[in-house]
Amino acid sequence: MAQEFGTVIIGTGIGGGTAVEALRDGGYTASIALIGADPAAPYYRPDLSKKVMLEGSDPEDSALRGEDWYPAHDVTTFFGTGVTELDPKGQSITLDDGETISYGQVILATGSTPRTLDVPGADLGNIHTLRDAGDAVAIRSQFGQGNKVVIIGGGWIGLEVAAAARNAGCAVTVVLRSSPPLKSVLGTEIGQHFEDLHRANGVEFVTDADTTGFSGTKAVESVTTSAGDLPADLVVVGIGADPTIDLAVSAGLDTDDGVIVDAHMRSSDPNILAIGDIAAAQNTLLNQRLRVEHWDNAVRQAEVAATTITGGDKEYDWQPYFYTDQYDLGMEYVGHGTSDDDVVIRGEKASGEFIVFWTRGGTVTAAMNVNIWDVGDELRALIGKSVSAARLQDESIELTEL
Ligand code: NAP
Repeated sequence: MAQEFGTVIIGTGIGGGTAVEALRDGGYTASIALIGADPAAPYYRPDLSKKVMLEGSDPEDSALRGEDWYPAHDVTTFFGTGVTELDPKGQSITLDDGETISYGQVILATGSTPRTLDVPGADLGNIHTLRDAGDAVAIRSQFGQGNKVVIIGGGWIGLEVAAAARNAGCAVTVVLRSSPPLKSVLGTEIGQHFEDLHRANGVEFVTDADTTGFSGTKAVESVTTSAGDLPADLVVVGIGADPTIDLAVSAGLDTDDGVIVDAHMRSSDPNILAIGDIAAAQNTLLNQRLRVEHWDNAVRQAEVAATTITGGDKEYDWQPYFYTDQYDLGMEYVGHGTSDDDVVIRGEKASGEFIVFWTRGGTVTAAMNVNIWDVGDELRALIGKSVSAARLQDESIELTEL
């Protein structure tokens, strides 16, 4: 007979891990199953491209909870287990070992899958994407003084791994299709600031280049790009990720580039919720559907989903937030700007401590504090406000007075 659970959470990333805790913290007393293909208990994934890469810390130190927390809270775990089918009509799930379990509610928290390059030689050794703890440890183990690291893509993974590899003394080259890096998120001026930071720390950039292949005998030795060949001991491909929605699609849920959910994280099936990278969710603050691939979003949506299940009333009503640390630059970003919004700088970029505002039609769409701390609430409060560029720049006016 199939095992039965009140709630089954599929996905053991930070979203799934937080949902379990939020359910128990919210007084949910029915049985819970937590299922994920990753053999490890949920961990804090941002550490992978930061602490694990930089300091060589053990990913186990980034676990959200010790393994014994789960049985102690009546959570049945299926770590290292894939789900092959979700059947909304029968309210059942099939695991990759053939076992079927039935559910009252499901929270889908399947995250995203790194894109790979479909080019000759892509299956050679020492070519990695970075998604899970195993990837992080494998990449870190190949860092070493003078080792040639080629990074494809100048997004968050590309730049955070570049900084960590330089920290370990590697010779680092980042290959970009276009420049500067991060242009599609932060725009040209701030993207250039990141490129300059990396160049100042010894990273080389190959720009306007397509990666067309890898060569080597067993392991990669060279990367072929449209701008020439690059010698490589290690390649990290950080060219974005796709939401892992195959289960949702085959279950017949409404999807577009993610699983369509309302502000309470309910999908088109009343017993199935979706959170995190896969959730194309109605944001009631911004009055638009958003799909956000950042940990803060997964954590907060997990809390909303748990509240929905326990009969409370939380909704998706906040601005996106994320952070990065690269060399001596630490920053936090809040809001939902676009790369062609106007950029207003408060302070001097050259000082290393400044705030960036993105505005559109005079309204603040996003803000980023660079090496200036404890201003998150003030910046968050400014998003959506009409403030002139002159006032935003004027450091004699307190952020709270803008
Ligand atoms: P990403 O931030 O979306 O950046 C992808 C980069 O790859 C972009 O620069 C893109 O350039 C480039 N690219 C795409 N296709 C390419 C191709 N065929 N050849 C060369 N470059 C290509 O993705 P990511 O860095 O891979 O990170 C994966 C996910 O993890 C993202 O959702 C990211 O937000 C998340 N993450 C976040 C953080 C953080 O918040 N600090 C840290 C790590 C990871 P174009 O702009 O030219 O398309």
